Parts: sequence; C-alpha cells; structure tokens
Amino acid sequence: MAAKTLDGKLIANEVEQSLLARVEILRQKGIIPGLTVILVGDDPASQTYVRNKEKACDRLFIHSRTVRMPADTTQEALEIAIHEANVDPTVHGILVQLPLPAHLNSDRALDLILPKKDVDGFHDINAGRLMKGRDGVVACTPKGVMAMLKSAGIIIAGKEAVVVGRSNIVGKPMAMLLLQENATVTVCHSRTANLAEHTRRADILVAAIGKAKFITADMVKEGAVVIDVGMNRVDGKLCGDVDYEPVAEKAAFITPVPGGVGKMTIAMLMESTVTAAEKASTCP
Ligand code: NDP
Repeated sequence: MAAKTLDGKLIANEVEQSLLARVEILRQKGIIPGLTVILVGDDPASQTYVRNKEKACDRLFIHSRTVRMPADTTQEALEIAIHEANVDPTVHGILVQLPLPAHLNSDRALDLILPKKDVDGFHDINAGRLMKGRDGVVACTPKGVMAMLKSAGIIIAGKEAVVVGRSNIVGKPMAMLLLQENATVTVCHSRTANLAEHTRRADILVAAIGKAKFITADMVKEGAVVIDVGMNRVDGKLCGDVDYEPVAEKAAFITPVPGGVGKMTIAMLMESTVTAAEKASTCP
C-alpha cells in the first residue's frame, strides 16, 4: 500500500482562507487581531519559527510584534515584557518562543501570560482545562494534528492511538485530544519497554520524539495513519521522526516533513489569535 499524503500546506491554506473572512469581520468592527511573540536569544531554529509566524500574520492581516531580547535577559526583564503585553489591549495573543535559555524559568514565565492571551495553550489553566475536557486554548501542534485527521475524514473513535512522546507541548495534549475523540490512547516515552509492540498496534501513530527517522517500517501496522511531528536537522536538511519512504509503503496516510504538521501548527496559532480577538471583542 502506498500512503496518501496528509498535505499540511494544503489544509493550512484552507484554514487561512477561513481566517481571512473572520479577520475581515473583526476589521469592520475596528479590531485588528494582535500577536506578540517574545524571542529570547538567537537560536537559529527559533528565529526561523518566529519568521514563519510573522509571515503568516502578514498574510492574514494580523498585527504581529516580535519582542527580541538578548540571550542573557534576566527573568525579571522577561516577566516585564510579558506583563506589558498582558496589559496592552491591542495584543490578543502572546507567545514566548521555546526553548528559553537554561537560566530562565519557562514554567514561571508561561504562567504569567493571561490565560485568555495564551495562544500556545501552555498556561497551567489551559492545560488543566484540556485535561478536564473544558473549553480553553489548546496547544497549536496537537490541535493542528486533530484538524488534519478531521480534514482527511479519518475516524478516531474506537481506534488504537499511540503517541510516542510525553512532552507538555506535544505528547500529553495530543493524547488528551485523541482521548476526547474516543480513541483508546497509549502514551510511550523513553522508558517504555518494547516500544515497537505498542507502535505496531496503532491505527493512529503520532511520533513526537525529536529523533530523526526513529520510527521505522517494522514498527508500523499495515494501513496505519502516521503523523510525524518531529522536526530534526540532518546535514542541514529538515526531517521528521519517521523513516518516511519505507513507512509510506505500509501506511494508509502519512504526514511529510516539511509540509506536514509544522504548517498546521502555525495555522492553529493564527486561529487561536483570531479566536482570542473575537472573544475580546465581545468580552474585553
Ligand atoms: P521533547 O524533547 O520535549 O520530548 C520528546 C519525547 O520523546 C519525550 O517524552 C521523550 O521521552 C520521548 N523519547 C525520547 N527518546 C525516546 C525513545 N528512544 N523512545 C521513546 N520515546 C522517546 O520534545 P517535543 O515534544 O518538544 O518535540 C518533539 C519533536 O517534535 C521535536 O522534533 C520537535 O522539534 C518537534 N516539534 C514540532 C512541532 C511542529 O510544529 N511540527 C512543534 C513542536 C515540536 P521522556 O519523556 O521519557 O524523556
């Protein structure tokens, strides 16, 4: 079987088209959605992500502001920058680009963002709401994966879903969203024994590990849906956590890297920013 590609670029483009209409409605009310990104240091990957977010804002007429801070920024200076964005009524979404330099406390910083402006969904309140199945801002990457699955008409309820990775920003929220859609969810991590025994049971397999080509064809069930969240640089080239070509021979659906989940992450960030602006317009 040759897998169908879940084209993140295409689906993200559809999301953007629907957002343009929502931004126009806001514009008619005199509201321009605003996103502030706080970038500390000069990590090249972070610089690229932030540039891509700025470009997406430009395409959608979202006002984007990037606060660039030096690598030796103090916790206090970072917290002041967050506070300034919190109290600015023209800012609807705030994102602190991760990872932060090691001397900074990212949990503390993320929890200072007003939950309603926390477009990354990393605040304890939003993470807690997700766990309880309540309305809140959901982390962009797992939200984007769900949008891809839905866009392809993939049935989730009753399926075996295996998520490899248990980070707070991808693996755990991913597992929660799949559970909410009634999949039977297994979360694997670096201490999982016999990993391949779990992955081979997966109807839906999500790889969020951060190790290039880690998921090989022998770890995948025939006809599975394989979602590759990984973004790894190998010899300067971007590649995922999945050994793409051999796995694509076995899977029913697969996401490419680049052009897969990464595009959706940005589209979902834009979606969360527009939603935050809409909510602020009715309940400032
Ligand atoms: P983390 O490093 O925070 O988490 C990686 C997870 O993988 C951990 O839970 C870890 O387990 C697990 N893991 C590591 N080695 C193994 C192993 N040998 N077997 C099983 N599990 C293992 O990474 P993130 O969740 O932040 O990101 C994961 C990947 O996704 C990265 O490549 C990142 O760049 C990418 N990413 C892509 C995004 C996109 O938009 N496409 C957005 C965010 C991330 P343990 O907990 O035990 O250490």
